[in-house]
Amino acid sequence: MASRNIIDGKSFAASLRQKIKEEILLLKRDYSLNPGLAVVLVGDDPASAVYVRNKGEQTREAGMLSFEHKLPANTTEEIVLKLVEKLNHDSSVDGILVQLPLPKHINEQKILAAIDPDKDVDGFHMTNVGRLWTGSDALFPCTPYGCLLMLKDQLGNLSGKRAIIVGRSNIVGKPMAALLLAENCTITIAHSQTIDLAERCRECDIIVAAVGRPEMIKGDWIQPGAIVIDVGINRVEAPEKGLKEDGTPKTKLVGDVNFAEAVEIAGAITPVPGGVGPMTIACLLRNTLVATCLRNGIQPPPI
Ligand code: NAP
Repeated sequence: MASRNIIDGKSFAASLRQKIKEEILLLKRDYSLNPGLAVVLVGDDPASAVYVRNKGEQTREAGMLSFEHKLPANTTEEIVLKLVEKLNHDSSVDGILVQLPLPKHINEQKILAAIDPDKDVDGFHMTNVGRLWTGSDALFPCTPYGCLLMLKDQLGNLSGKRAIIVGRSNIVGKPMAALLLAENCTITIAHSQTIDLAERCRECDIIVAAVGRPEMIKGDWIQPGAIVIDVGINRVEAPEKGLKEDGTPKTKLVGDVNFAEAVEIAGAITPVPGGVGPMTIACLLRNTLVATCLRNGIQPPPI
């Protein structure tokens, strides 16, 4: 298997975190600013708990303040709103992230709308969506932002590149499209109703797959040399790894792209795991740095 064309998201994210750490030292030295990120976790979803722990660790490693608010699953919407309001007014907090999903009795949209857009480091607030699409200073959703950074690292100038984004969710597909449009790509946004998807993919220099369907995008959908960013995270059975104690097959993670086929034809491709995933938290830290700068009237450092 060719390996030179595999994009190492883990080391790319580590070098981004290192750059952020250095920028934070400068912010402390030059402006006496100490960026702070508050993460709110409601309930005991095990995957969310792991994400929140990793976010906290990486925030502290970057030299920022980390505030974790863990609330029980039966917390009312009103209490979460009050906490968000408190964090909005807390000057030591530059970024607020409410870990999704929230328990069913809490209206996620209402909570996200209550976050001060200037502290909305997830980039999900309507104000940031509008800023992104209109080219104003915005906090970008972390996962597509990470994809953009990897694409720029591979290709340099993206101007004029033909890009297809497969998936149109509010958290990945649509913001990815906005980010690539802002880079002067010619974009196609594909979804479940797209006709001739394979053909549309083959026309493009860049494919971003954010579908949630294991290995849907095949090698022969890819133009030779195209850059493939696989956002998908799908857990599938892996009988080749043997059985678990309960007799069911062990499992593994795969992306939305058939990696074994695609790696033979793509110019570069992100693996799953180890591609897009590690970039998400690094971009959250970058957003916290950007939020700190913008809130204090400082030009954010280039990336
Ligand atoms: P989502 O909200 O479920 O959206 C999936 C999109 O794929 C929808 O727009 C859907 O089209 C489209 N789609 C479904 N079947 C299709 C098909 N057969 N052909 C073409 N398009 C199809 O998913 P999401 O939240 O964007 O997440 C997508 C994947 O990325 C998931 O595997 C998720 O786990 C992963 N993810 C990874 C990260 C990370 O950090 N690496 C972060 C977020 C998400 P319609 O709109 O027409 O239904």
